[in-house]
Amino acid sequence: TTDWSIEATAKRRDTYYAASQKKFVPFAAPMVFKRGSMQYLWDPEGRKYIDLLGMNVCISVGHSHPRVVAAAMAQAQELTHCTTMFYHPTPAHLAEELAATMPKGHDWVVHFTNSGAEAIDLAMTMARTFTGNLDLLALRTAYHGPTAAAQSVTGISSWRHPGMPGNVAFVAEPNQYRGIFGENAGAAPYLDEIERVIATSTTGQLAGILVESVQGYGGVIEMPPGYMSGAAERVRAAGGLYIADEVQSGFGRTGDHMWGFQADNLVPDIVVMAKGIGNGFPLGAVVARKEIAAPMAEKFMFHTYGANPTNCAAGRAVLQVIREENTQENAREVGAALLGHLHDLKAKYPVIGDVRGRGLMLAIEMVKDRKTKEPDRDVTAAVFEECRKQGLILSKSGAYQSCLRMVPPMCLTREDVVDVAEGLERAFSAL
Ligand code: PMP
Repeated sequence: TTDWSIEATAKRRDTYYAASQKKFVPFAAPMVFKRGSMQYLWDPEGRKYIDLLGMNVCISVGHSHPRVVAAAMAQAQELTHCTTMFYHPTPAHLAEELAATMPKGHDWVVHFTNSGAEAIDLAMTMARTFTGNLDLLALRTAYHGPTAAAQSVTGISSWRHPGMPGNVAFVAEPNQYRGIFGENAGAAPYLDEIERVIATSTTGQLAGILVESVQGYGGVIEMPPGYMSGAAERVRAAGGLYIADEVQSGFGRTGDHMWGFQADNLVPDIVVMAKGIGNGFPLGAVVARKEIAAPMAEKFMFHTYGANPTNCAAGRAVLQVIREENTQENAREVGAALLGHLHDLKAKYPVIGDVRGRGLMLAIEMVKDRKTKEPDRDVTAAVFEECRKQGLILSKSGAYQSCLRMVPPMCLTREDVVDVAEGLERAFSAL
């Protein structure tokens, strides 16, 4: 039998988890969840929470969604694993279905991985192989994952460790609230900045640029209109490719589109996805234009669990749910309702400096002073803890940990939004 007490698990974690893993507990006290269903979580005592974090954006269509669980379990019972050297139909179907979600007029191909970071790694290698160039551009406040290669393009210092490979130059994130060119500066100065960085900090010959269509850990930083397409144009002029990281922003989360890059009418060269694709099952993918993936035939890459049929069965069910249960539309409508409440809160509480996002990818940013915009990490942590007492699981994010990010399962309802708004109101008024 399993001992569900926090004390028992804490003791084992303290003793047997490596420091690198055990320390990532961004709460005042540890939490344990025993059960999840759709947008809700329950602790062992039966207390219910609304999961506005989506268990780190992984839960796209709902915790333990019955259709996803049934599909994965049926596959696991028949054949749990089958490496890609054997021809299993399930991953092949999922590849076809993912390709169909990409912009028309191109041939798209898929390489399955087990995680987002592996997919980022592969996308970087693919871009370097195709172009023959090494230099990549990445954005400040970007997060792309924990592998060495993914860290080399991650622009938040608390996530960066020693010994990262090089050949990466960082450009300023086009943050419309506190970016280096001031409030609502639009895309233009940031595109000039890309040109400057290419000219001054690279060889001038690029492998590509990586852009989260909406930065997640960065604190829900949306790309202003024209930024993604303008960045692609400038990077392509230097011989490089445009790599869209859709790990957080994909699968309809932004409400208006299946993929975040579609907000800018852009055709990327490579798209990286993970998290929401598996609704909790470990699955990632690189989707690339066929000609761009082609040169890697000479030195193929083999991820042992990549294209695992159990995870891919879950992935197929996720796509089916998104198509049949109005997931994207719900993200748009319910997200708009939640955003409205966040704006009401901002009108009432001066500590809220900014409210932003689209669909069910939203954030509020806390400041000590609206004029100086000095980030308020302490208030953010306090609101976060108050919300937790109110039964709301949020996420602290941003380079200064001054943002509360909301990326719930996309089945969140309007009734939940009322509960969330009331919980936030109580949390802010308690301070
Ligand atoms: N890209 C983005 C935008 C992410 O948010 C993450 C994970 N938080 C990753 C890549 C890496 O994904 P994984 O944790 O599955 O390696």
